[in-house]
Amino acid sequence: MPLYEYFCERCDGIFDALRPIREAGEPVPCPQCDCDARRIMPTSFTAFTMRDGYPRRIPDKGTYWHLEKEVKTLNRGGTAPNEHPEINKPVPPPPKTKGELADIAEQDHEQQQV
Ligand SMILES: [Zn+2]
Repeated sequence: MPLYEYFCERCDGIFDALRPIREAGEPVPCPQCDCDARRIMPTSFTAFTMRDGYPRRIPDKGTYWHLEKEVKTLNRGGTAPNEHPEINKPVPPPPKTKGELADIAEQDHEQQQV
């Protein structure tokens, strides 16, 4: 069962209670005074807000979210629709092999002789 936080107005106190999910919204008797305590959002609750059409974590750090990954800039294009320049960096061409480098050196040498 998940752990929820509840607030008792009479005691001005917060306590945790394990509740079934379907009963999480119902009041829980306070362990101090047996009054009904209302559920509050956990302090560690990570909320998201939608702004500019992008989910942003609260508090807003000015960053954006791309497929659940934090990025500093909006995707301005240049990549596939589900990719982001900060996450999906362009793959550099593979380094040339020794044989290819030797061929290039040979071609350069031949051109210089002509
Ligand atoms: Zn109480």
